[in-house]
Amino acid sequence: MPEVELTQVFRSRRAVLPEGEQAADVVVVDGRITEVRPYGGGEGVGELVDLGDLALLPGLVDSHVHVNEPGRTEWEGFATATRAAAAGGVTTIVDMPLNSIPPTTTVANLEAKRKVADGQTFVDVGLWGGAIPGNTADLEPLHRAGVFGFKSFLAPSGVDEFPHLTGDQLEEALAEQARIGALAIIHAEDPAVLDAAPQHPGPHYSDFLASRPDDAEATAVSGLLAAAERTGARVHILHVSSAAVLPLLRQARADGVRVTAETCPHYLTLAAEQVPDGDTAFKCCPPIRDESNRDLLWQALADGEFAAVVSDHSPSTPDLKHLARYGGNGDFAAAWGGIASLQLGLPAIWTEARRRGFALTDVVRWMSAGPAALVGLDAKGAIAPGKDADLVAFDPDAAFTVDPEGLHHRNPVTPYAGRSLTGAVRTTWLRGQVVDVDADARPIGRIIARGEA
Ligand SMILES: [Zn+2]
Repeated sequence: MPEVELTQVFRSRRAVLPEGEQAADVVVVDGRITEVRPYGGGEGVGELVDLGDLALLPGLVDSHVHVNEPGRTEWEGFATATRAAAAGGVTTIVDMPLNSIPPTTTVANLEAKRKVADGQTFVDVGLWGGAIPGNTADLEPLHRAGVFGFKSFLAPSGVDEFPHLTGDQLEEALAEQARIGALAIIHAEDPAVLDAAPQHPGPHYSDFLASRPDDAEATAVSGLLAAAERTGARVHILHVSSAAVLPLLRQARADGVRVTAETCPHYLTLAAEQVPDGDTAFKCCPPIRDESNRDLLWQALADGEFAAVVSDHSPSTPDLKHLARYGGNGDFAAAWGGIASLQLGLPAIWTEARRRGFALTDVVRWMSAGPAALVGLDAKGAIAPGKDADLVAFDPDAAFTVDPEGLHHRNPVTPYAGRSLTGAVRTTWLRGQVVDVDADARPIGRIIARGEA
């Protein structure tokens, strides 16, 4: 915080406010928005940042990011992930409890992760806890210590130190989370359906897709919704890929179950038909499905059935992806399942959203206001008085081709490589300060806790 009060005025002809897109002057005092005035109304009030025709967005909130530090920092670390976030217009991330070692399943592990992250993040970082077999007694202390809720898997997670929950264990974890008022976030694929699906390893995407059928998601979500109804827990379905899940969610909501869901840029912008054989940069679980499925996800998004669109940024090193261009065999079964997209989510979604007739206000609702509300970050997610001045200057008309070498992610592996996207982040501010991501820049992000920001 500056010692002397600093007043700034952010002026844009296209400020994306909760009430819609309009020309406005946004007044910021010491990093917090105090007023939104009519365009020109902030003249002489403070240091003017005139964006002209660039859109002014609230910084995005990405509640689904796998940073992997400590323990697998070679996959992604706090410095690289948060540089990528800032460059992509994301000003807050909430880090998943797994793929780091240790996983965030005890208070000691949480403190270890916070200690590592502190001082090296370029945006604000919160942490999720994990609910795994045997740590039910850890959930309440973790929640008190500020995790935003608890992630669980219903099928193997991909890493040994984060086992999935069986039906009975899920019931126990949800009952405890209902008792302490925590948000349960769930990777919903059913292990029995996965086991029964045809397994044909190799470079053909169609074989990989057949190994993770729609029914794996639908069956897992059905069981989860029943458990949520019995326990009264508030549940959130992570990364919905299959449209087969949507009618289940509608029915559960009609029945009064407390359930929300999210989907991700790759499910909304990529499709199975376009995945080249052997290009395991496209591998994620659940998988990218076909174009007709994608249209149904967009319809659900338009109808307000998704609380958020978040990245599920889950990188690994290129060798673990078995990518052909890094000397691998392109085997989808063996490749790490995860897509790196933290820096590209906004242009990817904007490109497709605009094509389908949506506006920037919609994108902001899905990628900023929605996820902020999901995790209870009252100071984030909107350009409005009382909110942090986490802001993004965005050129909605700028076209570019994705060059992986231009990404700040630790590993330049992305399924968006070579794609033409529209929409470029020009500047990102965190609490009114420009986020500089150059090599010698000083990280200005904070580690935030539930209920605090
Ligand atoms: Zn994930």
